[in-house]
Order: sequence, then C-alpha cells, then structure tokens
Amino acid sequence: MKKILSLLLLLSIVFSLFSCGDKKVDTPENKDYKTRSRTISTVYFNTFSAVYSYGDESDVNINNYAAIAEEVLSYYHELFDIYYEYAGVNNIRTINKNAGKKAVAVDREMIDFLLYCKELYTLTNGKTNVMLGSVLKLWHDVREIADGDFGYLNPALLPSEEELNAAKEHVSIDSLIIDETAGTVYISDPNASLDVGAIAKGYTVEILYKRLVSEGADSVALNIGGNLRTIGLKPDGSLWMTGLTNPDKSASNSVKCRIEIGSSSMVTSGDYERFFYAGNTKYHHIIDPETLMPAAYFSSVTIITENSGLADALSTALFCMSYEEGLALVNSIGGIEVVWIDLDYNVKTTPGINILPIE
Ligand code: ADP
Ligand code: MG
Repeated sequence: MKKILSLLLLLSIVFSLFSCGDKKVDTPENKDYKTRSRTISTVYFNTFSAVYSYGDESDVNINNYAAIAEEVLSYYHELFDIYYEYAGVNNIRTINKNAGKKAVAVDREMIDFLLYCKELYTLTNGKTNVMLGSVLKLWHDVREIADGDFGYLNPALLPSEEELNAAKEHVSIDSLIIDETAGTVYISDPNASLDVGAIAKGYTVEILYKRLVSEGADSVALNIGGNLRTIGLKPDGSLWMTGLTNPDKSASNSVKCRIEIGSSSMVTSGDYERFFYAGNTKYHHIIDPETLMPAAYFSSVTIITENSGLADALSTALFCMSYEEGLALVNSIGGIEVVWIDLDYNVKTTPGINILPIE
C-alpha cells in the first residue's frame, strides 16, 4: 500500500507538469487543442502508466494509443517478471528456475532484450548487471521483511558479509548463454539468476514508443511509472515541461526543479523509492556491484537521452559511480544529458541541460 501511495504521488507530480485531463491549451494556431490523457488501469511493472496526446474534439487517436500501451505493457510485464510465471510464455522466472538444468525456448523478443542487456553490461563497465540476481535477492528479502517493520529493523537482519560474498561468486554475465539460432536462453550456473529491474521498464517504453510512432503518433507523451518518453513536440512546436522529484522528503516542495525536454526519454534512479531503515541508516534498492551495498554517491541520477532502455540502464549505472566517472562515461557515449542530485541535495548537470526553478 505504501508503494502504491508513493507511486500515486510520483505520478501526480509528473502528471501535473504535463497538464493532464481533457483541458484546453492555448496554442497560437488553434485555440481548440486539448491535452488528452488516458490512465492505464492495470498495474504493470508494479507501477502506474499514462498516455498523453494533444488533439481537437474529434481526435480519437488517444484511445488507440492507450490500447496499444495496454497491449505492449501487458506482454513485456509477463515476459520480464522474475517472481511469477504465466500460461503460454517462458519468461525470466522460467529461465531462472532452469538455471544449471536446461536451456529454455523463448520468444525472439526475449533474445533481443538479453542481447541488449549484455551490451549494456559492457557499456557500463559491469555497473548495470542483469546477472546480479543472487546478490539482489538477499537485499530484496530483507527489504520485504523490513516493509512490515518500517524503520525498526534489527540491523542483525541485514545480509551478512559472508552471504553477500558467497552470492558474488554467482554474478558472471558469461553464465547467461543466449543461443540466437536455437532461440534459447540458459543460465549455466545453478546459483545464478537474472534480475532485469534496472532495464526492463525503460526497454519496454522504447518498444512502445516505436509502436506508437509506426501508428502515426507525432505529439504524444508517455509516463510509465515516472519513466518519461515523448514523441515529437507539442502541437505548437514547444517543448514538454517535466519535473524532477525532490529526493529531500523534508522539503516543502515535492518537485526539485523543472526541465524542458524535446522528443526524448527521461529516467531517474533514486534512493527514495524503495528503501528501509536499520537504525539510522537508509538501505535502498540500487546495489553497487563492487561493494555489494546500496550505492552511496547520490540521492538521485536522471538521464535524458532518446533511447529509454539506454536511459534506464545508465540511470542505474551512474547511480553506482562517482560524478567524475559518470561524466567520463556519458561523454564517451555522446548524446546523453544527466542531472545528479547528491546526498546533500546539491544539483549538478551536463552542459546541455537547462534547469528551471519551481514556479
Ligand atoms: P527503478 O526501480 O526506479 O526502476 P532502477 O532502474 O535503478 O530503479 O532499477 C533498480 C532495480 O534494478 C532494483 O530494484 C534491482 O531489481 C535492480 N538492480 C539494482 N542494482 C542493480 C545493478 N547494479 N545492476 C543491475 N540491476 C540492479
Ligand atoms: Mg535503471
């Protein structure tokens, strides 16, 4: 319930900045343009989603876009689920269950995704590693226990150094064996497992983006649990206004700053979404593969770049490295803008970003 409430708050922040609902927008050319939004009623990827479009009274495209979003999110949600299996599909859970046992026949979509995850592992120097499942499971389990005991967890319940070090023996990306010709995936280490939480949502948003473009969408914004993807500009040619969640929960404004974006993606990794306290120490859900502990560089890192899958992988990776390392990495890739908010809530950005104050 706590998660649902905080997600609702998150969405309401971004929604308000996109100006949702069927309401009039004054554009120079056409006073009758309206923003239209459709909330996706099913919870996919443990989050809420919405589609925004502009159009006049007769524009029915928004319903088509929302139906496509529902279809794409539903398929990839099942494909990328690590906890449950579904009839008629071999998913991440099926692959994990068969680790060390047998290769699993999967859809081409799964092959493409996991090949991309391997590329992203190399690109991020192993900071975003989908084979980190054995380590992430230890943290996930204590977080689940702490959820019922918010703020009062006995520190003894944290994963021990021995447990973490033992799990680290089973995180090799090479144990993920993808056979494109046979259409199978096999984890060769019986104690290793996939956790695709750092990339799956952004990757799915990019697939949805491509589908909507092929349907003719040219002025649409997607908000998939705070993961933003815009298609084109607003009908009057202006940029989309977005807001960055304030990681400082004691601050009076829940929005830290505003940023205008063109046709692009914006993804944030933060320490304020899924966490628990043990004593006075906060333990969140993004784990530095080197220390095996929650990364301790920033309270949030936001990536703005075209490809939402890349943005998602980089938001996790840069969250797990220093400002200097992150800057060097994005400079070597090109076309990536970043907003870093440090543990004292100071903001740093790459030069291409114009931070606007809160009105
Ligand atoms: P969000 O939960 O907001 O999407 P991220 O994109 O950073 O945030 O993904 C965090 C999730 O990714 C975690 O819940 C966990 O499942 C997984 N994860 C955490 N640390 C790593 C890491 N270093 N590499 C790969 N996956 C990770
Ligand atoms: Mg990510």
